[in-house]
Amino acid sequence: MKNIETLADFESEFGTEEQCLRFLTNLRWPNGYRCPRCRHDEAWLLNEKKYKCKKCKYQTTVTAGTIFQDTHLPLTCWFRAVWYISSNAEKATAIGLQKETGIKSYKTAFLIFKKIRYANTFDISSKPLQGTVEVGQTFIPIVSYCVNIAVETRKKKIKCIAVSLNEDCNTFVMNSIKKGSSILSKGWNGNQILFVKDYVRGPYTSRLLHVDRVHKNLVRFLNQKLDNKKIRDKDLAESLIREFCQKFNAKIVDTDFYELLQKMVQVKPITDFSDNK
Ligand SMILES: [Zn+2]
Repeated sequence: MKNIETLADFESEFGTEEQCLRFLTNLRWPNGYRCPRCRHDEAWLLNEKKYKCKKCKYQTTVTAGTIFQDTHLPLTCWFRAVWYISSNAEKATAIGLQKETGIKSYKTAFLIFKKIRYANTFDISSKPLQGTVEVGQTFIPIVSYCVNIAVETRKKKIKCIAVSLNEDCNTFVMNSIKKGSSILSKGWNGNQILFVKDYVRGPYTSRLLHVDRVHKNLVRFLNQKLDNKKIRDKDLAESLIREFCQKFNAKIVDTDFYELLQKMVQVKPITDFSDNK
Protein backbone atom coordinates (compact mmCIF):
# COMPACT_ATOMS: atom_id res chain seq x y z
CA MET A 1 0.00 0.00 0.00
CA LYS A 2 1.18 3.44 -0.88
CA ASN A 3 2.13 5.75 1.93
CA ILE A 4 -0.41 8.55 2.07
CA GLU A 5 1.28 11.65 3.37
CA THR A 6 -0.01 14.57 1.38
CA LEU A 7 -3.33 15.56 -0.11
CA ALA A 8 -1.85 14.94 -3.56
CA ASP A 9 -0.99 11.33 -2.53
CA PHE A 10 -4.52 10.94 -1.30
CA GLU A 11 -6.08 12.32 -4.48
CA SER A 12 -4.03 10.10 -6.74
CA GLU A 13 -4.93 6.94 -4.77
CA PHE A 14 -8.52 7.64 -3.74
CA GLY A 15 -9.75 10.46 -5.95
CA THR A 16 -12.42 8.41 -7.74
CA GLU A 17 -15.34 6.25 -6.64
CA GLU A 18 -13.84 3.24 -8.51
CA GLN A 19 -10.53 3.52 -6.65
CA CYS A 20 -12.29 3.65 -3.29
CA LEU A 21 -14.58 0.76 -4.12
CA ARG A 22 -11.68 -1.39 -5.35
CA PHE A 23 -9.75 -0.67 -2.19
CA LEU A 24 -12.70 -1.46 0.06
CA THR A 25 -13.38 -4.70 -1.82
CA ASN A 26 -9.82 -5.89 -1.19
CA LEU A 27 -10.07 -4.91 2.43
CA ARG A 28 -13.35 -6.73 2.93
CA TRP A 29 -12.48 -9.83 0.89
CA PRO A 30 -8.69 -10.04 0.86
CA ASN A 31 -8.90 -13.58 -0.55
CA GLY A 32 -11.66 -12.83 -2.99
CA TYR A 33 -15.45 -12.74 -2.65
CA ARG A 34 -17.11 -14.78 0.13
CA CYS A 35 -20.85 -15.19 0.45
CA PRO A 36 -21.75 -13.92 3.93
CA ARG A 37 -24.51 -16.53 4.16
CA CYS A 38 -23.03 -19.79 2.83
CA ARG A 39 -19.31 -18.91 2.49
CA HIS A 40 -19.32 -19.88 -1.20
CA ASP A 41 -16.63 -18.11 -3.20
CA GLU A 42 -18.30 -17.54 -6.57
CA ALA A 43 -20.77 -14.83 -7.48
CA TRP A 44 -22.32 -12.97 -10.37
CA LEU A 45 -21.58 -9.29 -10.37
CA LEU A 46 -24.98 -7.60 -10.88
CA ASN A 47 -23.59 -4.10 -11.03
CA GLU A 48 -20.35 -2.51 -9.85
CA LYS A 49 -21.41 -2.96 -6.22
CA LYS A 50 -23.83 -5.86 -6.06
CA TYR A 51 -22.88 -9.54 -5.90
CA LYS A 52 -25.19 -12.55 -6.18
CA CYS A 53 -23.98 -15.85 -4.75
CA LYS A 54 -23.87 -18.61 -7.40
CA LYS A 55 -24.83 -21.22 -4.81
CA CYS A 56 -27.49 -19.77 -2.49
CA LYS A 57 -28.41 -16.73 -4.66
CA TYR A 58 -27.96 -14.36 -1.71
CA GLN A 59 -27.28 -10.79 -2.77
CA THR A 60 -24.79 -8.61 -1.03
CA THR A 61 -22.58 -5.55 -1.52
CA VAL A 62 -19.08 -4.76 -0.40
CA THR A 63 -20.39 -2.29 2.14
CA ALA A 64 -23.23 -4.43 3.54
CA GLY A 65 -22.63 -5.38 7.14
CA THR A 66 -20.02 -2.67 7.65
CA ILE A 67 -20.25 0.85 8.99
CA PHE A 68 -20.65 2.08 5.38
CA GLN A 69 -23.91 0.18 4.94
CA ASP A 70 -26.87 2.17 3.51
CA THR A 71 -24.78 5.26 3.04
CA HIS A 72 -25.99 7.82 0.52
CA LEU A 73 -22.65 9.58 0.41
CA PRO A 74 -20.07 8.71 -2.22
CA LEU A 75 -17.18 6.59 -0.97
CA THR A 76 -14.76 9.33 -1.98
CA CYS A 77 -16.42 11.51 0.61
CA TRP A 78 -16.06 8.83 3.31
CA PHE A 79 -12.43 8.24 2.43
CA ARG A 80 -11.77 11.94 2.55
CA ALA A 81 -13.41 12.06 6.01
CA VAL A 82 -11.25 9.17 7.26
CA TRP A 83 -8.16 10.87 5.85
CA TYR A 84 -9.13 14.13 7.60
CA ILE A 85 -9.67 12.42 10.97
CA SER A 86 -6.55 10.27 10.81
CA SER A 87 -4.35 13.20 9.89
CA ASN A 88 -5.78 15.56 12.50
CA ALA A 89 -6.13 13.02 15.32
CA GLU A 90 -7.51 14.56 18.51
CA LYS A 91 -7.85 17.96 16.86
CA ALA A 92 -10.43 16.76 14.34
CA THR A 93 -13.95 18.17 14.69
CA ALA A 94 -17.26 17.61 12.93
CA ILE A 95 -17.13 21.17 11.52
CA GLY A 96 -13.60 20.56 10.22
CA LEU A 97 -14.79 17.35 8.61
CA GLN A 98 -17.69 19.18 6.97
CA LYS A 99 -15.32 21.76 5.46
CA GLU A 100 -12.82 19.16 4.32
CA THR A 101 -15.37 16.90 2.63
CA GLY A 102 -17.79 19.54 1.37
CA ILE A 103 -20.75 17.70 2.92
CA LYS A 104 -23.65 20.17 2.83
CA SER A 105 -25.48 19.28 6.02
CA TYR A 106 -23.79 19.65 9.39
CA LYS A 107 -26.00 16.87 10.78
CA THR A 108 -24.63 14.43 8.19
CA ALA A 109 -21.05 15.54 8.83
CA PHE A 110 -21.58 15.07 12.56
CA LEU A 111 -22.97 11.58 12.00
CA ILE A 112 -20.04 10.54 9.81
CA PHE A 113 -17.66 12.00 12.39
CA LYS A 114 -19.30 9.96 15.15
CA LYS A 115 -19.29 6.77 13.10
CA ILE A 116 -15.59 7.04 12.27
CA ARG A 117 -14.72 7.83 15.89
CA TYR A 118 -16.84 4.88 17.00
CA ALA A 119 -15.07 2.52 14.60
CA ASN A 120 -11.76 3.81 15.86
CA THR A 121 -12.39 2.71 19.43
CA PHE A 122 -14.80 -0.21 19.16
CA ASP A 123 -12.30 -2.94 19.94
CA ILE A 124 -10.01 -1.15 22.37
CA SER A 125 -11.27 -2.51 25.68
CA SER A 126 -11.33 -6.10 24.48
CA LYS A 127 -7.91 -6.18 22.84
CA PRO A 128 -4.62 -6.61 24.68
CA LEU A 129 -1.91 -4.07 23.98
CA GLN A 130 0.75 -5.16 21.50
CA GLY A 131 3.81 -4.08 19.55
CA THR A 132 5.96 -1.71 21.55
CA VAL A 133 4.63 -1.16 25.05
CA GLU A 134 6.01 1.02 27.83
CA VAL A 135 5.30 -0.34 31.30
CA GLY A 136 5.68 1.47 34.59
CA GLN A 137 4.52 1.18 38.17
CA THR A 138 3.97 4.09 40.49
CA PHE A 139 2.45 4.88 43.87
CA ILE A 140 -0.49 7.27 43.76
CA PRO A 141 -1.00 8.85 47.20
CA ILE A 142 -4.59 10.02 46.72
CA VAL A 143 -5.84 6.44 46.27
CA SER A 144 -3.22 4.93 48.60
CA TYR A 145 -2.23 2.27 46.07
CA CYS A 146 0.34 1.41 43.47
CA VAL A 147 -0.85 1.67 39.89
CA ASN A 148 0.49 -0.14 36.82
CA ILE A 149 0.45 1.75 33.57
CA ALA A 150 1.04 0.25 30.13
CA VAL A 151 1.15 2.36 26.98
CA GLU A 152 1.18 0.97 23.46
CA THR A 153 3.01 3.32 21.15
CA ARG A 154 3.45 3.54 17.42
CA LYS A 155 5.68 6.05 15.67
CA LYS A 156 6.25 7.81 19.00
CA LYS A 157 2.52 8.32 19.53
CA ILE A 158 0.20 6.75 22.09
CA LYS A 159 -2.15 4.17 20.56
CA CYS A 160 -3.81 2.66 23.58
CA ILE A 161 -3.35 2.40 27.32
CA ALA A 162 -4.12 -0.05 30.14
CA VAL A 163 -4.03 0.75 33.84
CA SER A 164 -4.51 -1.49 36.86
CA LEU A 165 -4.55 -0.95 40.60
CA ASN A 166 -2.59 -2.87 43.20
CA GLU A 167 -1.62 -5.74 40.92
CA ASP A 168 1.64 -7.57 40.66
CA CYS A 169 3.45 -6.05 37.69
CA ASN A 170 4.09 -9.39 35.98
CA THR A 171 0.44 -10.41 36.29
CA PHE A 172 -0.55 -7.04 34.88
CA VAL A 173 1.73 -7.52 31.88
CA MET A 174 0.42 -11.02 31.23
CA ASN A 175 -3.21 -9.87 31.52
CA SER A 176 -3.00 -6.79 29.40
CA ILE A 177 -0.20 -7.24 26.86
CA LYS A 178 -0.05 -9.71 24.03
CA LYS A 179 2.77 -12.27 24.19
CA GLY A 180 5.64 -11.49 21.87
CA SER A 181 5.30 -7.72 22.40
CA SER A 182 8.34 -5.60 23.04
CA ILE A 183 8.35 -4.18 26.56
CA LEU A 184 10.11 -1.00 27.55
CA SER A 185 10.50 -0.64 31.27
CA LYS A 186 12.81 0.88 33.78
CA GLY A 187 12.32 -2.27 35.79
CA TRP A 188 14.35 -4.60 33.59
CA ASN A 189 17.49 -3.93 35.51
CA GLY A 190 15.81 -3.42 38.85
CA ASN A 191 13.40 -5.77 40.53
CA GLN A 192 10.09 -4.57 39.21
CA ILE A 193 9.71 -6.86 36.22
CA LEU A 194 11.39 -10.21 36.49
CA PHE A 195 9.91 -12.08 33.59
CA VAL A 196 11.51 -12.21 30.20
CA LYS A 197 9.80 -15.30 28.90
CA ASP A 198 7.11 -14.72 26.25
CA TYR A 199 8.00 -11.04 25.84
CA VAL A 200 10.76 -9.21 24.03
CA ARG A 201 12.89 -6.98 26.13
CA GLY A 202 13.01 -3.53 24.60
CA PRO A 203 16.08 -1.30 24.73
CA TYR A 204 16.96 0.09 28.13
CA THR A 205 15.36 3.41 28.80
CA SER A 206 15.85 5.79 31.69
CA ARG A 207 12.62 7.69 31.11
CA LEU A 208 9.24 6.39 30.14
CA LEU A 209 7.86 9.51 28.50
CA HIS A 210 4.45 8.10 27.58
CA VAL A 211 3.92 6.42 30.94
CA ASP A 212 4.84 9.72 32.62
CA ARG A 213 2.29 11.57 30.51
CA VAL A 214 -0.49 9.08 31.33
CA HIS A 215 0.50 9.16 35.00
CA LYS A 216 0.21 12.95 35.10
CA ASN A 217 -3.20 12.82 33.43
CA LEU A 218 -4.36 10.12 35.82
CA VAL A 219 -3.31 12.07 38.91
CA ARG A 220 -5.07 15.18 37.61
CA PHE A 221 -8.22 13.15 36.87
CA LEU A 222 -8.24 11.53 40.33
CA ASN A 223 -7.61 14.82 42.13
CA GLN A 224 -10.53 16.39 40.31
CA LYS A 225 -12.87 13.46 40.89
CA LEU A 226 -11.98 13.16 44.56
CA ASP A 227 -11.77 16.86 45.20
CA ASN A 228 -8.18 16.39 46.36
CA LYS A 229 -9.28 14.17 49.27
CA LYS A 230 -7.41 10.95 49.97
CA ILE A 231 -9.38 7.71 49.91
CA ARG A 232 -8.79 4.12 51.03
CA ASP A 233 -11.71 2.60 49.18
CA LYS A 234 -10.32 0.09 46.71
CA ASP A 235 -13.58 -0.45 44.80
CA LEU A 236 -14.01 3.27 44.24
CA ALA A 237 -10.37 3.66 43.20
CA GLU A 238 -10.73 0.78 40.74
CA SER A 239 -13.88 2.15 39.18
CA LEU A 240 -12.28 5.59 38.79
CA ILE A 241 -9.28 4.06 37.12
CA ARG A 242 -11.50 2.13 34.72
CA GLU A 243 -13.33 5.35 33.87
CA PHE A 244 -10.06 7.18 33.29
CA CYS A 245 -8.79 4.45 31.01
CA GLN A 246 -11.95 4.36 28.88
CA LYS A 247 -12.01 8.13 28.51
CA PHE A 248 -8.34 8.34 27.69
CA ASN A 249 -8.55 5.61 25.05
CA ALA A 250 -11.69 7.06 23.50
CA LYS A 251 -9.82 10.27 22.73
CA ILE A 252 -6.94 8.60 20.97
CA VAL A 253 -7.48 8.54 17.25
CA ASP A 254 -5.73 6.07 15.03
CA THR A 255 -3.42 8.18 12.96
CA ASP A 256 -2.84 5.45 10.44
CA PHE A 257 -5.24 6.01 7.56
CA TYR A 258 -5.22 2.36 6.43
CA GLU A 259 -5.72 0.96 9.91
CA LEU A 260 -8.64 3.25 10.50
CA LEU A 261 -10.23 2.09 7.24
CA GLN A 262 -9.60 -1.52 8.21
CA LYS A 263 -11.49 -0.98 11.46
CA MET A 264 -14.38 0.52 9.54
CA VAL A 265 -15.03 -2.62 7.52
CA GLN A 266 -14.86 -4.71 10.71
CA VAL A 267 -17.44 -2.70 12.64
CA LYS A 268 -21.06 -3.71 12.33
CA PRO A 269 -23.42 -1.02 11.02
CA ILE A 270 -24.83 1.39 13.58
CA THR A 271 -28.44 2.32 13.09
CA ASP A 272 -29.32 4.21 16.26
CA PHE A 273 -26.80 7.03 15.88
CA SER A 274 -28.98 9.49 14.00
CA ASP A 275 -31.35 10.27 16.87
CA ASN A 276 -28.72 9.88 19.52
CA LYS A 277 -26.63 13.00 19.60
ZN1 LIG B 1 -24.20 -18.03 -0.72
